[in-house]
Amino acid sequence: TPVILWFRRDLRLGDNPALAAALAAKRPILPAYILDKSGEGRGPGGASRWWLDKSLRALDAALRQRGGRLILRRGDSEAELRRLIDETGADQVFMNRRFEPEAFVRDADIAHDLQEAGVACHGFNGSLLTRPGAVLTGAGKPCRVFTPFMKALLQAAPERPSTPAPETLVTPEGPAGQDIDAWGLHPCAPDWSRGFDWTPGEAGAAAALATFIESGLADYAVGRDVPGRRGTSRLSPHLHWGEISPRGVVRAVRAAVADGRVAPAQADKFIAEIGWREFSAHLLHQFPYMAQRAFRPEFDAMPWRADPEGLQAWKQGRTGYPLVDAGMRELWATGWMHNRVRMVVASFLVKHLLIDWREGEAWFWDTLVDADQASNVQNWQWVAGSGADAAPYFRIFNPVTQGEKFDPAGRYVRRWVPEIRALPDRWLHAPWSAPAAVLAEAGVRLGRTYPRPIVDHAAARARALDALKSLAARP
Ligand code: FAD
Repeated sequence: TPVILWFRRDLRLGDNPALAAALAAKRPILPAYILDKSGEGRGPGGASRWWLDKSLRALDAALRQRGGRLILRRGDSEAELRRLIDETGADQVFMNRRFEPEAFVRDADIAHDLQEAGVACHGFNGSLLTRPGAVLTGAGKPCRVFTPFMKALLQAAPERPSTPAPETLVTPEGPAGQDIDAWGLHPCAPDWSRGFDWTPGEAGAAAALATFIESGLADYAVGRDVPGRRGTSRLSPHLHWGEISPRGVVRAVRAAVADGRVAPAQADKFIAEIGWREFSAHLLHQFPYMAQRAFRPEFDAMPWRADPEGLQAWKQGRTGYPLVDAGMRELWATGWMHNRVRMVVASFLVKHLLIDWREGEAWFWDTLVDADQASNVQNWQWVAGSGADAAPYFRIFNPVTQGEKFDPAGRYVRRWVPEIRALPDRWLHAPWSAPAAVLAEAGVRLGRTYPRPIVDHAAARARALDALKSLAARP
C-alpha cells in the first residue's frame, strides 16, 4: 500500500521531515502537489505564481532523476487527497504543516476527516526552527518583544542533523497528474516577469546560500543595509517555498563560523534576521487577527486617506522621491526589493501619504517573489507602528536622508531611476533642490522627465503626526 507525500510549502527533498518520515515507513511514496484556490484564503500573488511554476518543475525534475515524479492536481485539497486515496488505496498522508491561521485550521480539518476515513495524517514542522507556541514568556504567554523571543528561540531550537535527499524515490505507476503548462501560472500578457533573474528550486536555493556565505556573510552587518550592493542572501523566496529549511541555513552559517570563514558577530546578525522570520510566523499564528487588523487595536482608528492617485504613483515608482521610486521599480522589475528600501517605501505610503498599510501589503503580496503572509503583515505593521515591538509611529523615515546615508554614491538610485542618473550625488536624492543650471546640465526637467515630489516632506510629516495625535486624543 502506498503513502502520500503531500508537498506544499516544502518544495525540497533534503532536510524534509515529512519525506524522511515517509521514507521510514518503507512503502511506495506518491509525491503530490495540489493547487488549491479554495480554502487557502487569498491565493498566491502574481510573482509567487511565477515562482511556484518554476519550483514545481524543479521538484518534478529532481524526483524524476530518482525514478519518481510529482503528481499535480488542482482543486480542493481534501477532495483531491481523497481522490488520490481512492485511486491508489494509500492509507497514510505525510505533510509538513503550515502555520498561517487559515491554512492551519484547514489542515486540522483535513487531518480529522481523513483520520475518520481510516487514513492517518502525519504532520511535521519543516518551515520553522520551532513550531509556534514553543517559544513563550516566563509567564507562559506569547512573546510580543523580539529580543526575548530570539533568546528563547535559540534555546528552544536545538540543532538537529539534516536528512539527506534520498538517492532513489520510485513513484508507483497509476495515478495521473495534470500538466503544469495547463495551469497558466506564468504571466503572459503582459509578461512583467521578463526581468526576473532567479533560479527557483532546491538547487537554486543551495547555490544562493553558498554564494552568500562565500561573498556576503563576512560583512553582513554593514553590507545588509546598502541597497546598491549585493550584501544580503536573497534567500527569502527560497525560504518561503521551503526549497531550503531555516535549520539548513543556520547550520551552514554556523559551520562557516566554526571553520573560521566568518566572524561570529556577522553570523549572529544574520541568524537574528532568520529570527525575525520566525517571530513573524509565531505572531501571526498566535494573533490571527493581525492579518487584517492592527495588532495594537488603538491603531484601528487611524484616519487613513483615500488617495488613488498617490497609491498609483507609489506603485509605479513616480513619487518624485528617488529612493522610493527606485525601490518600487526594483520590485516590479525583479520581484524583490532590498529590506532597507522596503522600510522606506512602506513608511512613505503609511506616513507621507497616510494610506492604509493594507493597500501596500496587498501590492507587495502580488509583486514580491518572497510574498509571505506572516513576514509581510508583521513588517507592514512594524513600519506602520501598529505591530508588536514596532517602530514608534512618530519616527518617520526621511526618504532623502535615508538615500544619502545608505546610497551615498547613488548606485542604487541611478540603476533604477536612470532619468536622473546624470545628476551629481549631492542632488541625486532630492532633485527638486538642485539649481536650475544643474538640472539642465543633467537633462532633468522636473514634472516632465521626472516627477516633482507628490508630497512635501515637512508637510506630510506634520500631517502624519497630527493623525497620530488624533489617535491619542480618542477616549
Ligand atoms: P537577508 O538579509 O539575507 O535575510 C535572511 C532571511 O531572513 C531572509 O531571507 C528572510 O527569510 C529573513 N528576514 C530578513 N529580514 C526579515 C524581516 N524584517 N522580517 C522577516 N524575515 C526577515 N520578507 C519576506 O520573506 N516576505 C515578505 O512578504 C516580506 N514583506 C516585507 C514587507 C515590508 C514592508 C518590509 C519592511 C519587509 C518585508 N520582508 C518580507 C522582510 C525583508 O525585507 C525580506 O525578508 C528580505 O529583504 C529578504 O531578502 P534576503 O533574503 O536577501 O534577506
